[in-house]
Amino acid sequence: MKTVALIVAAGSGARAGDGPPKQYRLLSGKPVLRWSVERLASHAAIDEVRVVIGSDQRDAYDAAVGDLSLGEPVIGAATRQESVLAGLQAIGAADRVLVHDAARPLVTAPVIDRLLAALDEHDGAVPSLPVVDSLRRGEITVEAEVDREGLHRVQTPQAFRFAPLLAAHRDAPAGATDDAEIARGAGLSIALVKGDAQLFKLTYPDDFSRAERMLGAAGFRTGMGFDVHRFALGDHVWLCGVEIAHDHSLAGHSDADVALHALTDALLGAIGEGDIGDHFPPTDEKWRGAPSHRFLSHARDLVTAAGGTVEHIDVTIICERPKVGPHRLAMKRRLAEILRLPMDRISVKATTTEQLGFTGRGEGIAAQAVATIRI
Ligand code: MG
Repeated sequence: MKTVALIVAAGSGARAGDGPPKQYRLLSGKPVLRWSVERLASHAAIDEVRVVIGSDQRDAYDAAVGDLSLGEPVIGAATRQESVLAGLQAIGAADRVLVHDAARPLVTAPVIDRLLAALDEHDGAVPSLPVVDSLRRGEITVEAEVDREGLHRVQTPQAFRFAPLLAAHRDAPAGATDDAEIARGAGLSIALVKGDAQLFKLTYPDDFSRAERMLGAAGFRTGMGFDVHRFALGDHVWLCGVEIAHDHSLAGHSDADVALHALTDALLGAIGEGDIGDHFPPTDEKWRGAPSHRFLSHARDLVTAAGGTVEHIDVTIICERPKVGPHRLAMKRRLAEILRLPMDRISVKATTTEQLGFTGRGEGIAAQAVATIRI
C-alpha cells in the first residue's frame, strides 16, 4: 500500500510579519518546513513526501530540505485548492495521501497513526480538537452567542484514500478552504480523529515563540550504547562509517562497525526502542555484510518519528590499534552526514586500556556511545 504525504508550502504568509515566507523561517534553529517534512518522512507508514512550493521558492526549498531524499517539489498555484490539485496530479497514483500545511510544523506520530487507521473505514480523516473557549459572533460588539457544542477545530495533516480525493478535487467548485470540505462536498465519508495541541498553525509573529516554547518544554533524554567485536583475518576495519586499513578485520554479521553499533544502541536507548539486535536480528540473512550506517539511519528516523531531535552524540573507541587520531575528522564528517547534524554536535574520542584486558591484548575493539535527544 503506497502512502504519500503532500505538504502545501506555496503560501507567502503575509500575516506572520515581514521577512521570508513563514515556512522558510527558522523555528528552534530549523526551517519551519523541515520540521514537518522530517516527521512525516520518518514515519514508517509513509513512503514518499512531496512538497508544493511557490514558483519563486525553489532556492529557499533547496536550502531548507534539499539534502533530504524527497520527490521532486511541485510548483503550486494562486490558491491553496489549486496547489493541492497540482500536488495530487504530480503524485499520479497512490493508495493513501496525507495533505498537510507546512505552517503546522509540529506533526506527531500518534496523530498520523490515528488518521491512517481511520482510513480502513472511511474515505478521509481529519484531526480535530473540541472548542473549549466560549464563542461569540460579532465585529466590534457581541451580536450573538454561538453554541460550541459539537464544534471542532480542524487541523492538518488530513488523510484520504487517494483516488476519491483526486476525483473530488477535479470536480470541486473554487473557493474551498480545506480538503475535507472538498471531499465531503463530493459525498465522501470523513472521520474526526483526535488532534494534538502541538499541531496549531503558525499564523501571527507570536506563534513562533509559542511553538519554540512547546519545543523548549520538551525534555532531554540520554541513551547509552556499548559494543565489542573481536579481530579476525582481514586487512581493514570499519569505525564510525570510515574504512581504515589494518592488519586485521573485525568479525561480525554486518560490516562489524563497532562504533556505529554502540551509537545506534545509544539512540535506541534514548527513546526506549530496544537494541540493535531487535531491529536487525543477526539471524536475518538480509543483514549479512550490511553497511552499519543503515542501522544508524534507521535509529535516527525512529528518533525523529518519536518527535525527538538528536542534540549531541559522544563516541569513545577503545583499542590499542589501529590509531584513531588520524581518522577522527573523517569519522566526525561521516557521522554528521548520517545523522544530519552539525559537526559541533559530534564528538569522537579514543582511548587505550594500557595494554590491559582484551582490548589491551589486541583481541578486539570496544566502543561506547552516549546520545542526547530532545523530545
Ligand atoms: Mg555489534
